Amino acid sequence: MIRRLDHVGVAVRKASQRLPFYRDLLGLPLAKTEEVPSEQVRITILGEGPGRVELLEPTAEDSPVGRFLRERGEGIHHLCFLVDSLEATCERLQASGYRLAGGIRAGSEGTLIAFLHPKDVGGVLIELREVKGVQP
Ligand code: ZN
Repeated sequence: MIRRLDHVGVAVRKASQRLPFYRDLLGLPLAKTEEVPSEQVRITILGEGPGRVELLEPTAEDSPVGRFLRERGEGIHHLCFLVDSLEATCERLQASGYRLAGGIRAGSEGTLIAFLHPKDVGGVLIELREVKGVQP
């Protein structure tokens, strides 16, 4: 079951170049910065609760976000929805023909995540994040 939109991921070359806009001009508080080794990405989370903005800065050129930047430039990278059970949700979606891009894995803040293949979802990369361990 989908709970709600959790965050929007935005691919950036350098988070420090985009912070003056999101933090200083829009006034979104800088919640935290975290490196996610499994995705070779450094994330900067702005705002609190539902609808946060997650700036994604690659730590390696040959990484998912590094390739995204090379092919499409900076911009919206993914939408993330919170789900009750990641495994049950993935099984249900896969039974309907949707493919996972990679498997279920560790995301930020110790939560479990999975991505749906954008080709199956009209070009939108969808991240699913299990609600367990997420701050309300
Ligand atoms: Zn995300």
